[in-house]
Amino acid sequence: MKTFTYQAAPTRVVFGAGALGSLAAEIDRLGARRALVLATPEQVASAEHVAGLLGKRAAGIFARAVMHVPVETARAAREEAERLGADCAVAIGGGSTTGLGKAIALESALPILAVPTTYAGSEMTSIWGITEAGVKKTGRDDRVRPRTVIYDPELTLTLPYGLTVTSALNAIAHAAEGLYAHDGNPVVALMAEEGIRASAAALAPLQADPQDLAARGDALYGAWLCGSVLGSVAMGLHHKLCHTLGGSFNLPHAEVHTVILPHALAYNAAAAPEAMARVSRALGGTSAPRAVFELARRHNAPTSLAAIGMSAEGLDRAADLAAATPYPNPRPLERDALRQLLQRAFDGTPPDA
Ligand code: NAD
Repeated sequence: MKTFTYQAAPTRVVFGAGALGSLAAEIDRLGARRALVLATPEQVASAEHVAGLLGKRAAGIFARAVMHVPVETARAAREEAERLGADCAVAIGGGSTTGLGKAIALESALPILAVPTTYAGSEMTSIWGITEAGVKKTGRDDRVRPRTVIYDPELTLTLPYGLTVTSALNAIAHAAEGLYAHDGNPVVALMAEEGIRASAAALAPLQADPQDLAARGDALYGAWLCGSVLGSVAMGLHHKLCHTLGGSFNLPHAEVHTVILPHALAYNAAAAPEAMARVSRALGGTSAPRAVFELARRHNAPTSLAAIGMSAEGLDRAADLAAATPYPNPRPLERDALRQLLQRAFDGTPPDA
């Protein structure tokens, strides 16, 4: 018999093609009147579309979200919300835009409505991150958890195919680590396996036609489940390595997840057989690490750190950093084994499990 603790997240989720149409009603439901719309500069047109839909409920647009939430941007967004008298924020975009919304909420407690357009999953977590003087601080705080999430697959039709694949693998990584989390539970395990299955199954139809709305729906459904896993349980080696490589070596987020995942799973394989069985069942392969590696390769995603801008000289320091702070992981952290893992990931050698 298993012993576990389960707590359901309070986020309201509205899912479906055209769901963006319910945004005004969802703002009313929160008792809010004036929304600041957040986006990246690349997605300013989406922000304008949202502001148009909201009419008088739109207080203004702040389209300066960037990766890793610089503290200056968070401050400027918070000031803009105050200046415009906004009483909620709508974050339309990927993890960077959701992250900006969370940074606003962290100090102002402004309610956030998230409209995700990638598969990063940040909208389902209470994890925030802010970068100050080149150092990214992260934490968990219930104030930053979006109150409402609107998943509309139509908004993901424009996601470039390369980012579609790496973002889906980013989602799969949350679920895979959730399967061996020290604080896991049976509900999270169900969500994780189904999230991996749905995310992976969407990629073949999307390779054939990135405009396939049904497959976009499956991928977003998978992202919701995988993001929920990330929001529910502690992450291990894989997320720690990606955080180190992304933060200290400035590598692109979703691509790092894609390259590292097969190797992190191989590192933990012998110590987490049940999790591996679920991952391979969801992917239809025999070895979980190999199945993830093959999924990335089949969809032309990067499979080596060298290909995404890592320098060979940085590998020793990355291994030191990853081994430095202890955190829960099925297999104990051994510096030399981590260094070997990083070498395989750097070279793009298939995982050794
Ligand atoms: P992103 O938000 O940086 O987006 C990447 C680029 O794609 C941006 O230019 C964006 O405007 C564009 N884009 C997004 N959706 C698009 C669409 N549908 N069509 C066209 N272009 C689109 O990338 P991401 O991978 O979603 O997020 C990465 C960030 O999120 C990282 O900073 C990471 O640390 C953070 N993150 C946080 C959590 C958490 O729980 N706190 C979880 C996952 C990721």
